[in-house]
Amino acid sequence: MPELPEVETIKRDLESIIVGKKIKDVEVKRAKIIKELSVENFIKRVQNQEIKGISRRGKMLILKFSNQYLVVHLRMTGQIIYGDKQQESKVAFRLSDGKYLNFLDRRVMGEIRLINNWQELPFIQKMGPEPLEKEFSLEKFQEILRGKKAQIKPLLMDQSFIAGIGNLYAAEILFRAKVSPLCPADSLNSAEVREIYLAIKEVLREGIKYRGSSVNTYRDAYGKKGNFAQRLHVYNRAGQPCFKCGTLIKKIDLGGRGTYFCPTCQK
Ligand SMILES: [Zn+2]
Repeated sequence: MPELPEVETIKRDLESIIVGKKIKDVEVKRAKIIKELSVENFIKRVQNQEIKGISRRGKMLILKFSNQYLVVHLRMTGQIIYGDKQQESKVAFRLSDGKYLNFLDRRVMGEIRLINNWQELPFIQKMGPEPLEKEFSLEKFQEILRGKKAQIKPLLMDQSFIAGIGNLYAAEILFRAKVSPLCPADSLNSAEVREIYLAIKEVLREGIKYRGSSVNTYRDAYGKKGNFAQRLHVYNRAGQPCFKCGTLIKKIDLGGRGTYFCPTCQK
């Protein structure tokens, strides 16, 4: 499932490819992906819109038109790939350069919305801070942690707590911070809080640097795999030795999600 580093990679790719181009037409093969509007209305309103810019909030990709926004949520298996039209496209945007922006989605759980003001979307209003922004300081992290009794891993994945972190990066962040995913947030000491804070910034930045992790279906805007999957320490490594201490990586179920950690390194 694409998380902050994957969506940020797509955003940066698209910035250099499609800003300034127009959407000439749209073909919608799976109507359920288009939210809020009827497909007919959606197509009418998207036609001839110029792409003015691209941004990201949490795991959402936001295309800016003159006076509306296209908000794309990739969810589990969504992909946005620029190039020739693809057979499997669920939604295909034809651009003014003759190429296509293909929205592919094997499990068809992705969501596309055309709205006047993306900040007004309820799930965006509820979203926690952007972890790579300057405003996300250690003090801010300490402040939002205060009084939280939840276990740290599900808390890190809660989009209303911090935006953009999912199962894979939460596991890697906690390995880096040497904290067990099972730790209740209110039991962490100030050194542990600081380690988690630093690991959030470091691991997400590395994820972006290596263009995201393609453990499953993630591809960048050119349809290529990211390189971060080869750098994972715990995620998807159950039964394999920890790179630091040799203990076998453990996988448990935590809040319905497969959770990987080193029982020796993470206390
Ligand atoms: Zn270890």
